[in-house]
This record gives sequence, structure tokens and C-alpha cells, in this order.
Amino acid sequence: MPGARLFAAACLLALAFAPAPGRAAAPAGGFELVALGVDGGLEDGNLSAYLLRAPGDARYLALDAGTLLPGIRQALRQGAFGAGAGGDSLADAGRVFRRSIAGYFISHAHLDHVAGLLIASTDDTGRKPVYGLQSTVDALSRDYLNWSAWPNMADRGAPPALGRYALTAEPVGMPFAVAGTSLEGTVYPLWHDRVTSSMLLLRSGDAWFAYFGDTGPDALAHGDDLARIWRVLAPLVRRHALKGMAIESSYPNDVPDGRLYGHLTPAWLLRELHALADQAGGVNALRGLEVAVVHIKPSLEVDRDPRGRVQAQLRAGNDLDVRFVFPRQGQRLHFP
Ligand SMILES: [Zn+2]
Repeated sequence: MPGARLFAAACLLALAFAPAPGRAAAPAGGFELVALGVDGGLEDGNLSAYLLRAPGDARYLALDAGTLLPGIRQALRQGAFGAGAGGDSLADAGRVFRRSIAGYFISHAHLDHVAGLLIASTDDTGRKPVYGLQSTVDALSRDYLNWSAWPNMADRGAPPALGRYALTAEPVGMPFAVAGTSLEGTVYPLWHDRVTSSMLLLRSGDAWFAYFGDTGPDALAHGDDLARIWRVLAPLVRRHALKGMAIESSYPNDVPDGRLYGHLTPAWLLRELHALADQAGGVNALRGLEVAVVHIKPSLEVDRDPRGRVQAQLRAGNDLDVRFVFPRQGQRLHFP
């Protein structure tokens, strides 16, 4: 039956030219962020990990990697990778994991920011960069990829180094090209109690996005890491080139300063955003700026609802008219 053969041939052609899952180019006009894991601890299926890409790019940069495959499956269920991405099987998630992630930025080496990458690393393909501060990539090599905690999938350290991941230390404040994407990144250090965390400032043309790893406020750090970052971001805010940021608020306001361990509350986050507004021209400078609030720590207590509290406290104190958004696992967000 020629008709059936023609139909079969057409199907094969369609398959041959179908884009790989998640590889259709990002839509024009702003960054795209897919939340793979959003919580600040406790549940190992929903820990800090985001995929970000620029307009026109096929592949994403992963921003931290606490949860990967379960987050990709959740995102597939919600259509975050578009039509043609397939179902939500482990194999479907594996295709996104292997083909659509160009590389990784790790803000700091705490387990809840790297566990997903470590666990899945044995089944990744290719050779991918892992960017971070020198202290972060040193910790990844020394503490995890050492054949004791996990096989050495990196390109250095305890032999044999299997070379799947190129550990790439980036100097503070020096722009670098993110391989496999059109993005440029610049790393800045953050105070996070006993570990140095970091912020990655991403650029695509004159559009910018700031991804903050865990951090506490300058006042508790007795330092000025955030003040320095606000000075970098202020000119971008002034000309509306900063399209958004993702920053933590791990705890509600009733957690005392002495028990924050290098994290923010809504009150501290608002105080820091005020410091940015001061640099950027005053109380109206941040009006409409999209701020994704991440890393809210769940609670095992009945009726505590930290997420609800953090959301309510940020909205109540939002005299800057910032647009707070609270990503959910699997959700795709746009920062136009
Ligand atoms: Zn941390």
C-alpha cells in the first residue's frame, strides 16, 4: 500500500528532524529559568537546582545541582521543555540531562547543592564544564570526587580521573564564556557562615541575571560582600538591564540571628534590597524588578508552613514594589 508507505516515510522524516528534547531554542526576549529543585533542605527530591538559558540558545547552564533527574521529570510533566520533549520517564529525563545541559555552576559545595549531579554523574555523557570559585571546585575534588565518597568523574584529583567534568575555577570579578551557550558569567563571593558561597552574574547581550547561592546579610557577616555586589548591580538596575535575580530567604523572621547560619530571612532580604535600591537611585529604583525567592527551608513541625510565612512576610514588607516570585519544582519562568 503506497499510501501507508508514504505515511511511514513521512513519520520517519518527522522523527529525523524533530528537535532533541528540550533543545528547541529559547524564545526571544529574556532569560528562561526551569526550576528543578527549590527547597532549602530536608527533602532530597527537591533541592536547589535551576536551568537557565538565554534567547536563541538550545542548551541550558545548570545553576547548582541539588536535585537533577527528579526535577527534570517534574518539569517534563509540566511541559517546561516544550512540545516534543517526550513523556516523563527516566529515559526522557535522561535525554534532557545528557543533551540539554551544557555545564554547571556550583555556588558552593554544600551537599544540597551538588547531590543530584554526583548521583547522576556516572550516566552523563560528553565532557562538561563545572564552574565555581577555586574553593568550591577544590572542595568538589577533595571531598566528593575522590573514589571514597564517589568515583572521580572530574578531570583532576585522585587517580584515575575519569574526566567527565572539567572543574573550572573562575577568578572573582572576571567575565568568562559559558561553553556551549551564548552566556557570559562572572562570579562574586558571598558570606555563608563557615563556607564561601558565590553569586553568578549572567549576561546575554545587555540583559543580565543574578543567581545567588546561599548567603547571610552583611551585618551578620561583619563584611561587605553583598554591598560590593549591589554596587555592581546598581548601574544595571538603573538602565533596566537587570532582568531578574534569584536569591534565598531560608527562614521566616522569627528565627533569631544566632540561628541563621549564614542565611537570610524576609527582613534581612528586604534590608539588603533596600541597600541595592539606595545604590540604584532610591526607593523606586527596584519597582517591578523580578526577584525569585528560593531555598526556603521546610519544617518537620506541624502547621509551621515556612513557605507561607516567608511569602507573607516578604509581601507585607515590600515597600520597594519588587515583584517577588516563588518558584515551584518543575516550573518554567521567564524574565523578560
Ligand atoms: Zn549552603
